[in-house]
Amino acid sequence: MNTESTVRLLLAEQTQGGAFSACPSFSQYPYCWLRDATFVAYALDCYGQHSAAERYYLWAAQTIARQEGQIEKLIHLRSRGAPIAEHEFLPTRFSLSGEPLKDNWPNFQLDGYGQWLWGLGQHLKLSGQSTIPSQFQAGVNSTLAYLAAFWNEPCYDCWEEFPFRWHTSTLVSLYGGIKAIGEFIPSQLDLAEQIKTFILEHCVQEGHLVKFVGCPIPDSSLLWSAVPFGLFEVTDPIFLATLEQIESRLLRSGLRRYEFDTYYGGGQWILLSAWLGWVYVRLGRTAEAEQLLEWIETQDEAGLPEQVSQELHAPVYHDYWRKMWGQPAKPLLWSHAMHLIFKQELKKGNP
Ligand code: BGC
Repeated sequence: MNTESTVRLLLAEQTQGGAFSACPSFSQYPYCWLRDATFVAYALDCYGQHSAAERYYLWAAQTIARQEGQIEKLIHLRSRGAPIAEHEFLPTRFSLSGEPLKDNWPNFQLDGYGQWLWGLGQHLKLSGQSTIPSQFQAGVNSTLAYLAAFWNEPCYDCWEEFPFRWHTSTLVSLYGGIKAIGEFIPSQLDLAEQIKTFILEHCVQEGHLVKFVGCPIPDSSLLWSAVPFGLFEVTDPIFLATLEQIESRLLRSGLRRYEFDTYYGGGQWILLSAWLGWVYVRLGRTAEAEQLLEWIETQDEAGLPEQVSQELHAPVYHDYWRKMWGQPAKPLLWSHAMHLIFKQELKKGNP
């Protein structure tokens, strides 16, 4: 699919209210995840579609602002030392009309709340706005209050797995989001620094970042620590050591999420392969970036999937998931968004 058709696909999938589903045709994904949708909106901003991106951020702001009462309740419960059940935390995904879903999805995932703040910061800059417009304020303030209270609590990771852990890529997403919004609300920058200090103290082992505190294996989402969340420069020794771990242990033709991944057998993820390409561009490793782009584009058969089921880590799980939920999600909007972002970065070259 060429660039114009991909932009058209993303625009066509946006609801009137501004939301994007993760994958309209996959049984489990007809909902809006802050994580996926933020990168879809960012891709649209990169391609000049600011009004569509703005509609998404407005949807997110209003959706989160409606949770204000729940946030107050959670903060109150925590201050009294009362227990909080997992389903009481803010959702990781919402119905397309912005309602929490009453099901047993692993909900307590903080990373999306950082990512949407990051995306909003990029949107304001890319669309030439120097202050946060009033219609976003309540959603931003509610998110900041929630994150200030809960950022250092263990939760599920960005792959919706491993509860009760401090996940490096979650913390990095919170850092990136609060730092980006801190450009508009400087009083927030202290919180970003606290998170950075925590990551450097607890998430670095033997000179590289770890998947979660106490688990020294790499995860491809650790790439986010440099691009786009900027905790490290791409040339920082900690980042380079992390990249080396990711490349040596997770890179095939495309990138896997982590060793022992069993979701659909643990295939190669389009969006992560695009992320690695983005990092390669920043490092001036253009030939490797081009190779990844070519691999991604050959996977586009009437849309990009979430993962490619080749060189599976554990094939028997592929059949298990296929029987439960059908073939891997396709078209996954987040895959398409990352393809667009990577392609534009490659075109721009190393800044
Ligand atoms: C992934 C999440 C993603 C969700 C919707 C899950 O399988 O692990 O990262 O947000 O799908 O695409």
